[in-house]
Amino acid sequence: MSKRAEAKRKNCLNCNKSLRRVDWYYRNNGYFCNKSCFNAFQKKKQAEQESNKEKAKKA
Ligand SMILES: [Zn+2]
Repeated sequence: MSKRAEAKRKNCLNCNKSLRRVDWYYRNNGYFCNKSCFNAFQKKKQAEQESNKEKAKKA
């Protein structure tokens, strides 16, 4: 087992697929397999923030 290799491996924040150095797409401190995963993640995050706002209103 190599800890160094482990630390280097990144997972896509959207689909959690492990990424190799060559295919990753780095945006906003996160790693994604491609631009569409990045966009999907942004949408998810936005929706989460929206729903948090909704909850805050109700509370
Ligand atoms: Zn992905």
